Amino acid sequence: MLTRDFLKLAGLSIAQRILPPSLLQLWAQAADAQAKGRKVILVTFGGGVRTAETFAPAGLHNIPRLAALRPEGYFYQNCQNQGVLSHFNSTASIVTGNWQRVDDFGFEAPASATIFEHFRKANKAGPLDAWVIATNKSFASMGSSSRRDFGVPFGANVVLPKQLLLDAVKNIVRKPKDSDLSDRDAVHRRLETILQEGYEGVGWTIFKGGRQMDKHVQATLTRALGEFINGPEAPTSGDELTFFITREVMREFAPRLLLVNFWDMDVAHWGSYSLYLQAITRTDRLTGMLWDEVSQNPKYKDNTTVLILPELGRDGDANTANGFLNHRSGDPSCRNTWLLALGAGVAKGATDKPISHVDVAATAAAILNLRADGMTGVAAKEILI
Ligand SMILES: [Zn+2]
Repeated sequence: MLTRDFLKLAGLSIAQRILPPSLLQLWAQAADAQAKGRKVILVTFGGGVRTAETFAPAGLHNIPRLAALRPEGYFYQNCQNQGVLSHFNSTASIVTGNWQRVDDFGFEAPASATIFEHFRKANKAGPLDAWVIATNKSFASMGSSSRRDFGVPFGANVVLPKQLLLDAVKNIVRKPKDSDLSDRDAVHRRLETILQEGYEGVGWTIFKGGRQMDKHVQATLTRALGEFINGPEAPTSGDELTFFITREVMREFAPRLLLVNFWDMDVAHWGSYSLYLQAITRTDRLTGMLWDEVSQNPKYKDNTTVLILPELGRDGDANTANGFLNHRSGDPSCRNTWLLALGAGVAKGATDKPISHVDVAATAAAILNLRADGMTGVAAKEILI
């Protein structure tokens, strides 16, 4: 990609005024050099799901897309979460390569450097090249660690689309003049206003490191939300919105490193087995659509490795009649999940050899040709061609 095309694509007009030209030039050069480089997408098939309802023989009917894709990729049937069984810590362990024991609800950043920080620091990659798009609204700190030598300046953009939408709706409800919820245009207008306000408070941590949200980024995501409100796909869940924003970010910015966090399955805490199963099948469909985008988008096709795994399982039914409700027992049903690798550099195959959640970041680092020191995890060599 030509430097000027990169700048145009990235829409760095504001940044050009704020940042030293030398830094912009460096980003552009890095983007040029890496245009043909590998990309990695991490997908947490998330919210907590048991193997019993997914890749166990009796669960396969819940995940028709992944079941069909399994022979195309490499399948680890024993991916173990040996860490703290909360959503934030489990996901933070995936992105750092070290077992995290920070606040369970996301009030602290990961203690170890994330793969995003390693990637951006080593490659001098710009802020549009690493993103976290998360349904779980406590994931605002997932993009960077508390380490002083890394941290926010090297972190991923974090977008919490569901939180953005929830706040938009709340604000409309609070304002009598906009109270007609059936008026999608009013919702859209309100979303646009919110996007121009304080982003950090409503689901955005984009460019938090002292820079303003780039106008092009803002315009792109505003349009995507408008399409979400008015479009024929009419997403009706947090995960659908997350998928929709992810696809928009891929099409517009083509980041090389991306975490997509699905989370609707955690509805299981409310006790409805049927809603839990519906969420599994929806996540399967959305993950399949994400793979379709990777396969069809020229910026991703043939150069992208997708790693899909649940961040945790859920309790087994042995000690409680309804194990699916929670994920705190630490029993095998809760800790033993799976990982499916698809795409560039992935051999076809399957194994019961155990790997663990901290191996994911190490594998991503190996794919991206990064030296990421200090990770407990090791790269899953079976899939690296
Ligand atoms: Zn949960």
